[in-house]
Amino acid sequence: MREIIGITLENEMDLILAHKRSMQIGEQLGLTVATRTTLATAVSEVARTVIDFTNEGRLSLCISGKFPRFSINAGITFDSDHVFKETDEGFFYAKKLMPDFNFEVTGQEYSITMALSLPRSAKVDEAKISILRDYFINAVPLNAYEEIKNKNSKLSQLTQAQEQEIKLGRELDEKKNEFISVASHELKTPITVIKAYTQMLRLLKGQYSDKVGEVVEKLEIQTGKLVRLTYQLMDVSKIENGSLQYDLIKIELNSFLEETVTMLTNVHANNKINLQLGDGCSVMADPLRLEQVLSNLIGNAAKYSDKNSAIGVATFLSEEGGSITIQISDHGMGMSKDSIARIFEKFYRVEDIVSSHPGLGMGLYISSKIVADHGGKIWVQSEIGNGSIFYFTLPLAVPFKQ
Ligand code: ADP
Repeated sequence: MREIIGITLENEMDLILAHKRSMQIGEQLGLTVATRTTLATAVSEVARTVIDFTNEGRLSLCISGKFPRFSINAGITFDSDHVFKETDEGFFYAKKLMPDFNFEVTGQEYSITMALSLPRSAKVDEAKISILRDYFINAVPLNAYEEIKNKNSKLSQLTQAQEQEIKLGRELDEKKNEFISVASHELKTPITVIKAYTQMLRLLKGQYSDKVGEVVEKLEIQTGKLVRLTYQLMDVSKIENGSLQYDLIKIELNSFLEETVTMLTNVHANNKINLQLGDGCSVMADPLRLEQVLSNLIGNAAKYSDKNSAIGVATFLSEEGGSITIQISDHGMGMSKDSIARIFEKFYRVEDIVSSHPGLGMGLYISSKIVADHGGKIWVQSEIGNGSIFYFTLPLAVPFKQ
């Protein structure tokens, strides 16, 4: 069965469309005026009865059969809790006009089909059916109502396609999150064991040669990287599940920054980290998570800069004294405006560095979430070749009075 025309039956205006289009299809097939009128009247009778009780109907004018015997079929389908019978007035007349009349009902679903054999003189073949379909697809709307109806139908098809795409995207995202969650938990146990063994090896230092000692040291560094990546994966999964939790305590920020920067200076021994502390203040924060943000921003400043370049860490109070801004600056490669707009997205990495710098694009996504969960904001100022300055704010535990 090849549909040539489909019309939803919503109101009286659709009766006019159904009648006119039935006449036109008959005309295009070369049927006599009497046959066309019979078809169009039968279609109108059924459509009117349906429209009286429901606006859910659909008329489908199709060609069925195989060369050389084809027929034209008018099918009307609809759902309704009103009980229709084959003997209802409109159906009764239609059946008189089109004896090949079929009435089917399954629960509340109704299907009425009427068929009319096409004479050989109509010269129907697959090519003609195709031409006929194109003719009606491109046909000028019969009136303003049909024009609006067509536009609405296109719009709703577009909306449906978009909704489907969004649904698919969501499903894929859920699958990805599930994979990240399972993978990170599966990785955690063996990595923790490897880490424990490398620490044990370190304690046995005197019992092996310097050469082995070097290998143990490398093993420890690489294990540390694996541990960090695994924890990042677990954090991403927690963010997606909404289960990232915080143990907030009051932190005296300047001493916290001094301690953290000293610790990170040992990690990034090649870079000099200059710390410029502003007025002392305290914030309510989870110390481990705050350290994670600083470690990510300072780590990136080191990773995306030349080996010996300096990194700056500075703080300043907001003018109104309600929050503190922490600034991490570097003299590294910087980034474009397009990258700045996407930098805090999950798994985003600047294309140029993907093969040259290791990473998975999770750090800034996690940091932005941590900062937001503490009631702060995070942003970056950067220019290609001119370094970057990352800023994040934290609300003060006690507002500062000048
Ligand atoms: P990762 O460093 O593991 O890729 P991040 O989420 O920490 O993940 O960073 C995302 C991307 O942002 C990086 O891949 C890099 O392209 C860019 N980026 C982050 N910090 C800097 C920086 N200080 N200078 C230049 N580019 C940076």
